[in-house]
Amino acid sequence: MIKSILLSVLAFASISTAQADINVGAPDCISQAEMKTIASHFNQFANLANKEFCNDDSTTWHLLSSLMFMRQTQFKPSMPVSKDELFTGKFAKNWYEYFIGRINDLEVVNDCPKGVIAYVYMFGNTMYTCPAALTTNFSSLDRASVMMHEARHIDGFPHITCTKGARKGIQGACDTKIADGGSYAVTVETYAQLAKYAEGIHPAMKAYAKSSAVVYADEAFENPVKINRSENLLVLTNTLDFHALNAKGEIKKLGKTSALGHIVKRGQHLIIFPTDKALKAQYVFANNEGEISQSPSDFITEYNAQTPAQKANLVDLHIGAQWSARVFKNKITFTCDPKSPTMKDIALPAGVTAAALVYPDGYARDKYSAQLVSENGELFELGCVNKQASLKAIATRLDQKYTRIHKAAGQVFGLVDGKLFKLEGTRSTPVVTALDGTIAEIVPQEIFEFFEQ
Ligand SMILES: [Zn+2]
Repeated sequence: MIKSILLSVLAFASISTAQADINVGAPDCISQAEMKTIASHFNQFANLANKEFCNDDSTTWHLLSSLMFMRQTQFKPSMPVSKDELFTGKFAKNWYEYFIGRINDLEVVNDCPKGVIAYVYMFGNTMYTCPAALTTNFSSLDRASVMMHEARHIDGFPHITCTKGARKGIQGACDTKIADGGSYAVTVETYAQLAKYAEGIHPAMKAYAKSSAVVYADEAFENPVKINRSENLLVLTNTLDFHALNAKGEIKKLGKTSALGHIVKRGQHLIIFPTDKALKAQYVFANNEGEISQSPSDFITEYNAQTPAQKANLVDLHIGAQWSARVFKNKITFTCDPKSPTMKDIALPAGVTAAALVYPDGYARDKYSAQLVSENGELFELGCVNKQASLKAIATRLDQKYTRIHKAAGQVFGLVDGKLFKLEGTRSTPVVTALDGTIAEIVPQEIFEFFEQ
């Protein structure tokens, strides 16, 4: 018996929720002709082959619609490879043919461990899918990527445990190097292909796929993946306009957003918590890509269900690869173990009210600590080092009352009263721009040569 059970550890990365029916004109029914073809490849659907099948939100529908996504998604006729390692085109040809060449049975299992979405055994042609992946919180785009990933395992590509990086210590969460063309390489390639070359897919969904490709490339390999990239400071003004401030200090106007708010990073993904607490937190995109209606995570679904008064209690949120910290006015709730839903609260000292998380050393998914500034300007370090939640005061004093501090393109920026400052240690100098006084939010954002061209 082959021992290796090939789990896809996807919950630690960017895969989560995205809109299911985002395809422009995505049909809510699968024709009888299509059903017949699919049933000829997957015996289990034989009893459904004689009529059309419509969306009933069942697990069967979600499996079928993912197969349909693989059958029907059109790509540009020419798909040049990237100059880096994001896209080689190795798996670009015909996703559905590739999948049915390896998998001919789809089973839904109900007892999946936390973080597992789907798996296969090397000695079979069945893909096991966990219910978490079979709801409208998961897009056909995500599922197609997962299915291609699982099919690749059948070719004899197991995972390893990461010994470093964002997924350090997580069993089956890494491959050695992307050039090996294993299952995580397939994940990166499928997202990169969707982001760059898919036709008829909503622009916001393509932007989501772009970020997903990079998160996997950055986090699911022992040997770093070569990606040609640069970093900007993304600036949101009170006129609802996004701007990019590059390393040379040049400002470029980007798209608009629908509401002001606090932007939190989850790897490459940006999530906005609107200032107007009647609005919901959601993914946000800077180049007029539009919106994805589904929630980025279970916590954000919970948050969105709260009353405006409850929402106002959440001050900030840190999302690391394996830990998170929800910062409330008077306490911090930590999730330090990626394998367990256990949470730990640590209260702020009496009389201290949390104001914001600040990142003078930069936001990084593989770091286990972050800094917090209080309304009186006191600094704290918080984190989950060795899976232990901690909060301690730092002696450093900042020279101003910053609402944000972020590092982008090697520079540390602070935001005070709509104005930008460059920080060196505890000293600051103004960054004078045309946006002076109107800046509502800042967050670092990377751009990638392959997707920009
Ligand atoms: Zn896998």
